[in-house]
Amino acid sequence: MRVLIAGAGIGGLTAALSLHEAGIDVEIVDAARELRPLGVGINLLPHAVRELTELGLADALAASGVTAEEMVHFDLHGNRVWGEGRGTRLGYRWPQYFVHRGELQMMLLAAVRERLGADTVRTGTVLTGFEDTGSEVRVELRDQATGTTSTATADLLVGADGLHSAVRRQLFPDEGAPLWNGVRLWRGITEADKFLTGHTMAVLGTKHVAKFICYPVSREADDRGRALVNWLGEIQLPDDELTETADWNRGGRLEDVLPYFESWDVDWIDVPGLIRGAPEILEYPMVDRDPLPVWTHGRVTLLGDAAHPMYPLGSNGGSQAVLDARVLAYELHRAESPEQGLAAYDKERREPVNAIVLANRHNPGDAILNLVAERAPDGFDRIEDVLTADELAPLARGYEKITHTNDLNVDSPWSIRRTG
Ligand SMILES: Cc1cc2nc3c(=O)[nH]c(=O)nc-3n(C[C@H](O)[C@H](O)[C@H](O)COP(=O)(O)OP(=O)(O)OC[C@H]3O[C@@H](n4cnc5c(N)ncnc54)[C@H](O)[C@@H]3O)c2cc1C
Repeated sequence: MRVLIAGAGIGGLTAALSLHEAGIDVEIVDAARELRPLGVGINLLPHAVRELTELGLADALAASGVTAEEMVHFDLHGNRVWGEGRGTRLGYRWPQYFVHRGELQMMLLAAVRERLGADTVRTGTVLTGFEDTGSEVRVELRDQATGTTSTATADLLVGADGLHSAVRRQLFPDEGAPLWNGVRLWRGITEADKFLTGHTMAVLGTKHVAKFICYPVSREADDRGRALVNWLGEIQLPDDELTETADWNRGGRLEDVLPYFESWDVDWIDVPGLIRGAPEILEYPMVDRDPLPVWTHGRVTLLGDAAHPMYPLGSNGGSQAVLDARVLAYELHRAESPEQGLAAYDKERREPVNAIVLANRHNPGDAILNLVAERAPDGFDRIEDVLTADELAPLARGYEKITHTNDLNVDSPWSIRRTG
């Protein structure tokens, strides 16, 4: 079996490694002329770390990222509202990592080139269309440098081509642009002193005013006693309109984001200083797409953001792409025909991931912070005076249940050695 993957992001590269492990031939095309370590921080949840560990990448991950020990919510004055452990602190056998998205992508790319061959990933090659003949898939490709077009054939096509997927567009031509929820995100990475445990994701503020999220992403900086702090400022303005196309790498301006946070005075972290200190600021509208009724069409399927773009909340975008990739290879390995394998992958993954897309539209952490802001706008001494234990409890673990991490320690990883 020969699989052509469109897109060498975290999803496409993990799929290539997993399919190779299953003895399936793979070729990847990516539109980017050169794959560079772009983006800022993302989280890898224990379920994804388990799968990357199965692929032999545990040491590389540990050398790159910072283990996540806790996620804590604060009001905009820095008063602690609620927190809970993360990764092994929650009882999982695998850690959660804060990682640099680009570094993770480069790590996966290096593994693909080493294991599958240097020519496995063709950069500068855009997939522009495809035809499923019933016995194979013919894809149309365009060379970015010369503009020349060519065709290639494969037994299967996997569209791992991200938010603006060409494969998805051909399958669902009437879908239109991604959906925006009115929130703008400014993102950056700034070297600073370590804060709190040195392994904390901190969420401060409220959706009513402005929200700030930060966590460290570099093991190398951590070893030097410093933190490369990935930060994210979230603003929602009434009557704001989106005129641009969502692009993960669009530059942002200091003067657009700093005013919302300039007056913040938190004694354990310098929020305006982090924003001012970033060598580069990126701006991104918070978009997703409605869940799809089907991912697999004959010999063509979708994976990662192409299948289920979601708000970058809840640490699931990259992690679910990794899981998709692992289940895809597992199902193709054991299926009697390629089409059956793709259908089984769709059946296993689509509904659970669609539920996460919908859950991310109602972030339970936001609900907590909004409640606190309404009841104690000027801060508080004791959170017990603001929220009851009953108000906190269901919010705290509800999201995690949807993401199915609870069965992690007992289920087998999605390796081809998995039984059942
Ligand atoms: C440059 C970039 C920066 C990002 N930064 C962040 C970040 O800072 N924080 C965050 O939470 N998420 C970020 N993301 C998104 C995050 O990587 C994904 O949500 C998640 O990892 C799932 O990845 P994916 O492999 O499905 O898609 P992606 O990571 O989006 O990868 C898709 C790949 O497909 C390629 N591609 C697109 N169209 C075509 C085509 N027609 N033909 C061939 N190739 C194509 C793209 O070049 C890209 O390499 C970023 C994505 C990109 C592409």
